Amino acid sequence: MESGKQVTDIYGQLVFNDKVMRERLPKDVYKAVHKTIENGTHLELDVANSVAAVMKEWAIEHGATHFTHWFQPMTGLTAEKHDSFLSPEPDGSVIMEFSGKELVKGEPDASSFPSGGLRATFEARGYTAWDPSSPAFIKDGSLYIPTAFCSYGGEALDKKTPLLRSMEALSKEAVKVLQLLGDKDVTRVTTTIGSEQEYFLIDKEMYMQRKDLLHCGRTLMGAPAPKGQEMEDHYFGVLKPKVSAFMHDLDEELWKLGVPAKTKHNEVAPSQHELAPVFETANVAVDHNQLTMEVMKKVADKRGFACLLHEKPFAGVNGSGKHNNWSVQTNTGINLLDPGKHPAENTRFLVFLMAVITAVDKYADILRVSVASAGNDHRLGANEAPPAIVSVFVGDELAAILKSIEEGKQYTESGKTQMEMGAEVLPHITKDTTDRNRTSPFAFTGNKFEFRMPGSAVSVANANIVLNTAVADALEEIYENLKDIPAEQLESKIRELLRSLLEEHKKVIFNGNGYTEEWVEEAKRRGLDNLKSLPEAMPRWISEKSIELFTKHKIFTKEEIMSRYEILLENYSKSIHIESLTLQEMVRKDFMDGLISYSSAVAGEAAKKREVIPDLNCALETKLLQKLDCLSAKILKALDKLSEDTAEAEGKKDVLEQAAYYQSVVLEDMEVLRAYVDTAESMIPESFLPYPTYGEMLFSLR
Ligand code: ADP
Ligand code: MG
Repeated sequence: MESGKQVTDIYGQLVFNDKVMRERLPKDVYKAVHKTIENGTHLELDVANSVAAVMKEWAIEHGATHFTHWFQPMTGLTAEKHDSFLSPEPDGSVIMEFSGKELVKGEPDASSFPSGGLRATFEARGYTAWDPSSPAFIKDGSLYIPTAFCSYGGEALDKKTPLLRSMEALSKEAVKVLQLLGDKDVTRVTTTIGSEQEYFLIDKEMYMQRKDLLHCGRTLMGAPAPKGQEMEDHYFGVLKPKVSAFMHDLDEELWKLGVPAKTKHNEVAPSQHELAPVFETANVAVDHNQLTMEVMKKVADKRGFACLLHEKPFAGVNGSGKHNNWSVQTNTGINLLDPGKHPAENTRFLVFLMAVITAVDKYADILRVSVASAGNDHRLGANEAPPAIVSVFVGDELAAILKSIEEGKQYTESGKTQMEMGAEVLPHITKDTTDRNRTSPFAFTGNKFEFRMPGSAVSVANANIVLNTAVADALEEIYENLKDIPAEQLESKIRELLRSLLEEHKKVIFNGNGYTEEWVEEAKRRGLDNLKSLPEAMPRWISEKSIELFTKHKIFTKEEIMSRYEILLENYSKSIHIESLTLQEMVRKDFMDGLISYSSAVAGEAAKKREVIPDLNCALETKLLQKLDCLSAKILKALDKLSEDTAEAEGKKDVLEQAAYYQSVVLEDMEVLRAYVDTAESMIPESFLPYPTYGEMLFSLR
């Protein structure tokens, strides 16, 4: 922190937030903007002009010379194109200009962004549209305006448009149900998200020496260090001074940008850390998570680190995820997933809880697709992250309450006498840390659900688009069942409905350990999917059920669904293709160089010794050379196979078939090659290798 400054002084100082708008905008303009934000209504051009003028003044005062529409194309990253405010005058001087039109709409030449064939049939141009509900901010001398990105035909080419649509759909369906339940003053419901971000920090110099990290974000080979995470001494451990200084800078940069970074700690794997923000409205939280990832990388670079956001940068230790804490809140301030003191009697809570359980069970496969990526495949299903089987953890107390509903009985607390309705014997469900199940992919954690499957590197938009839509759909089903029921019968009809929904969907509830082999078996018996890889999961995205869900709630058109299908599969194949080429190059050039120079040094040693004593045995040198030679032969063979299979994969025409080939053949080849290389590497001293080892990368930070 700059001396003399407090967090409250710097927080949001680079953000055109509500406070700034209230202070600077004319009252009627401020009101109009608020109406747009709250009701999602259209903004008139004269209002936009007025906002733009004030925004420009404010931005220039804060050192900005440029503005950019900031959007989230299907690359999963953010995109920007900067224009200066500058406008030359006939007399040779300049003025700084920024109009309402420039604020509201942009026309980036966007033909090189992935569109999955969508834009090909239209013009090559896309357009960006201001999202006034996510505040503009200043970064590196530019005013950043969060926007949605569409084609001229109105098809979504980004992650924000469908996210906003899904929030809208959820709000619409939730309000209908709430009105029915008697919450007449609720007119709008927002999705709230707090997305915890895991990451690794390693020394920048070491990062630069590894082509796999540079090109792929993860190591493709490397013998394990003698120590891993088995001592469990890193989790919540004391922060090392350099890491602590990084986190300090990171917080400060994020706070200036109005990103509510709240918690920081060491994670389970060596060199792994986590940052958790305070939750916000979904689209703002998604924007802020993108910013967080970007600022993490930037601050790391300044501090001599590389920040790795990949889901599995190192084999043998935990990977990174992004825990997506999710809830829904009414415009009257009620958290709909807060059980309150008496969850068993809290009909509203039980209805929303059941809607989530229904949604997750019914659309488990599409939720699985929403978190699928080449990187995340390494994590899901491994013995650390939640498994690829989607299940819901509700905890003991809620499980007991649900059981009582199912059996049509009154809820009794175990060991206590049967309670009367309204009695004070029910404990308030607190966020009890003992009631935590860290192995569940979708866990109820007191007053929200924590979806733990999203990967660390990708936008959380996808996961929330699917989650919002699925819950909206379940709520609609609930509404349709209840809408014609006379008021006096409503309560009992709700119980009946909850019971039948539970009956149908309870198979997704699992409170045990999700990492065990028994669960895999049990899940199979229950008929739950275990979609282990992206190519296995993707066909579900274009299933009839999926198309019906998304088109019914107006989240995606069929064309948009198809385009996303192609983009995801192409992206997956490309990622593995690049990994394969990188591994081949690293083995051929870097590893072989180390292997050859070490072998010749060993041979040289033996020769030198024999100059002194000609019939010396040289057992050590001989043995080493033989072992390395034997491994070399295997490495060469595996390398050839990888190279041939990669060429074969590249030639495949069908996107799904291609991705499946990369997954089942090329990735497998890479594993085989890596195993030989790692064995050989463990015999070669560090000084002979032109890149740092796992031990050096994971344990050298001070
Ligand atoms: P932990 O899970 O480590 O115990 P918390 O439960 O306090 O920590 O919060 C974890 C994350 O969940 C934080 O990012 C927090 O802001 C977020 N969170 C808390 N309440 C909600 C909510 N109602 N909606 C969405 N996210 C929430
Ligand atoms: Mg958590």
